[in-house]
Formats: sequence, C-alpha cells, structure tokens
Amino acid sequence: MFRIASAAHLRIVVDHLMRIEVLNTGTELLLGSVLNTHLQFLAQALFPLGLRIERQVTVPDGDAIRVAVAETFGRAEVVLITGGLGPTTDDITREAVAELLGLELIHDETVMAAIERRFARRNLTMSARNARQAQRPAEAIVLHNPNGTAPGLYLAARPHGTITTPHLFLLPGPPRELQPMVTDQVLLLLAKLLPARPAVEMRVARIAGLGESAVEELVGGPLLALGLELGYCARPGEVDLRTIGSPAILDQAGRIIAEKLGPHIVSHDQRPLEKVLVDLLTERGETLACAESCTGGFLAHRITNVPGASAVFLGGYVTYANAVKTSALGVDAGLIEAHGAVSEPVAVAMAEGARQKAGADYALSTTGIAGPDGGSEEKPVGTVFIALAGKMGATLVERNRFPTDRQTFKDLVSLTAFELLRRQLTAR
Ligand code: ATP
Repeated sequence: MFRIASAAHLRIVVDHLMRIEVLNTGTELLLGSVLNTHLQFLAQALFPLGLRIERQVTVPDGDAIRVAVAETFGRAEVVLITGGLGPTTDDITREAVAELLGLELIHDETVMAAIERRFARRNLTMSARNARQAQRPAEAIVLHNPNGTAPGLYLAARPHGTITTPHLFLLPGPPRELQPMVTDQVLLLLAKLLPARPAVEMRVARIAGLGESAVEELVGGPLLALGLELGYCARPGEVDLRTIGSPAILDQAGRIIAEKLGPHIVSHDQRPLEKVLVDLLTERGETLACAESCTGGFLAHRITNVPGASAVFLGGYVTYANAVKTSALGVDAGLIEAHGAVSEPVAVAMAEGARQKAGADYALSTTGIAGPDGGSEEKPVGTVFIALAGKMGATLVERNRFPTDRQTFKDLVSLTAFELLRRQLTAR
C-alpha cells in the first residue's frame, strides 16, 4: 500500500484539485466474479491532468445505484459512474440519474440509429430492450461508444435545491468500451473544467536491498524539505519510492535519491529488476544462464517474462534432485556428499557448471531450504545459497535466510540473485 508521508505535503497537490469520486456498479464486482479494473484505469488516466480520485464506492445493480449517486451530491464535484447502462431491467443508471436530477428521459434518434447500424453490421436482430439504450436524460451530452451499444452520457453540474450537483459521467461497464471513451472523450471534457495550473508529475524509484524504514531514514527528511509529496510502497525485498511535484522539484529530488541510495536504485522508471537485467545484458552483448534448485525455474520464468529476453538468456537448468545436479551440471557427487546440496561449494559448482554447459557469460544458481520441513540447526528452514559465476573472475556466493512461505521465498531468492548480478554489471 502507498502511504502518504505527510499530510502537510499532501495539501500542496490537493488544494487546487476537483473532488472526484468513482461509483462502480455491478453485483458481479461485489460477488468477486469480476475484478474491478476500472478504478486503476481511471486513476492512471486522470493523474496526468493533475486529478486524483478521492473516494470510490461499489454498489450492486438495482436501486442501490440511485442511493449511491444521491450520496455524492453536495460532496463531489465530478462523479464517474461505471456500468448499469445495459439493456436489462437491473441496468438502471440512466433512469436513476434522470430521476434524481428531475430530468425527463427522452428517446435519442441519433443514438437509436447508431445502435441499429451496429446490429445490422453484425447481421444480428435487435431486441426491443436495446431501444432502452437510446434513452437519455434531457440535457445529457451523448458520449459516442464505437465498441458497444450503450452510449456514455455526460451531465454538467447544475443547481439543485441548495446545492450544485456534481458533473456526472455515465460510462459503460465493459473495459474495452469504457477505456477508449475515457481516453478520447471524458478526459477532454474534464480538461475544459479545470483551471490552469502548474504541471505536476509523478516519478517512482525502485529500490532493492533496503527496508521501507531504512529508505525513509535516508531520504525522507531531505525530500520532504523540498515541498513535494512522498509515498512508499513496500514489497518483499523492494520498495517503490514515489515523489510527486513540479518537474524542477523532482529533478532536485532525483539528485538526493541518487546520492543517498545510489547502488540500491534498480530503476527510476518502475522497470522491474528482471527487465533492468535484460536491458543491461543486451547493452553489453552478454548472456545469462541459470541453475536452480529451490526456486524451481522461477528465475528463468521471471527473466523470460521480459520481452526481448531471448537476446540474452541462453537457458535454465532446474536441478532439484542431487543426481540431476550431477548429471546435468557436472556437480561432483562427493561435494554434495561432503557439504550437503544446500551449501556454498554446491551453489558455486552449480553456477560454474551451468555457465560452462550453456556457454554463457554469467550464470546464477540457487540452492536452499524453502520449508516448511527439511531444516536443521546448522541450516534452518529458509537458508539459501546463491552464486554468480561469470567473466569477472572468482565465483561470488552469498548465504541468506528467508524463513517465509514458499512463494515469498522464491520471490526473495530470485530478487537477491538478480541483485547480485545487477550490482556486478553496474559496478564501476
Ligand atoms: P452491458 O451492456 O454489457 O450490460 P453495462 O454498461 O450495463 O454494459 P455492466 O452490465 O455493469 O455494464 O457490466 C458489463 C460487464 O463489464 C461486466 O460483466 C464485467 O465483465 C465488466 N465490468 C463492469 N464493471 C467492471 C469493472 N469495474 N471492472 C472490470 N470490469 C467490469
């Protein structure tokens, strides 16, 4: 979760913004059958205009929509309502809004003609129910929907008793209909409502190998002193440091971040570590192989998720059993016997074996005890050895301990292995 570092600094951005709320409708969202992706899309689409969503509510289909729209009156200045514009009886957004604003629902011939054309193009017979979608509250501006039958609607703010109603945008539920409508039409309408003001940008630095509080201790004070908004988002092994402010202030912040966090900075543009590695290896014309035991191919999986990985990634060996460490990578059986499969010499031999077999410039290896069983006093659950063999000379090897669940263990081991290589590639 992002947390806001300082309420005082939040104020600088919120002062000049409109209060925007999102109202998602759809029983399927509340049943957990459909993931609500609209909020993320809308928040990201609005941000470049300097706009933030202040509140989001999800309600089921039916009368709850009318109640939820009414609740936004007098509180929000803009409400983006998604879904409930379909042809069925539970799709009541249009009717609810018309009723609340005291507007008549009128039949729009242009919308009707567009719906008819759409059905004709597909050789489909139009149901009488679809005619409902050609209705709109009088005074509503129609937002063209080239990807579906239900048009969107915009109702400008208007006096309503003692208050002014919010600007209301009624948007279709399906993402492939909503997204282009927002990008092509809603953002233009919103931009017209906004007063001119200085540009605000967001930059995110991805940090590895330091906890959230260590990052805050190193840069929190000096960054806040610049008068920007600061946020931290922690994941296992990584922290995203988010700064929001004017480009000039963010340039100053970037210098502070580089100076204080230097080698821990994975990227300044939210590129994941594996993408950074693929980019670095591509620039250098170098190649990578992996030999994995406890991560079961997860390093290879992460690397091959990056488009363009084939230019640098030669292959991965998943050598879970001792015999396969020997047969596939040439790890000496005596070495395993003497030190155990989870040991420094075996990690080194795996990395060197993979490098040699694949003919790669670098090879990473992992061998550890993911748990929940299999630990000992000397090597408790979570113990892992990670090695990097490469053209730099002696093979590097690290011992770590991540006593956690198996997936988080794999996340942390792969991150640590990738960091070992990234540090090597970026070392002066
Ligand atoms: P339709 O004409 O398809 O009925 P509608 O405007 O009435 O459109 P809904 O019926 O509310 O929209 O939703 C249609 C479909 O759109 C849903 O079944 C769901 O798959 C998708 N959808 C709706 N809301 C969301 C959301 N918040 N996030 C992601 N998908 C959504």
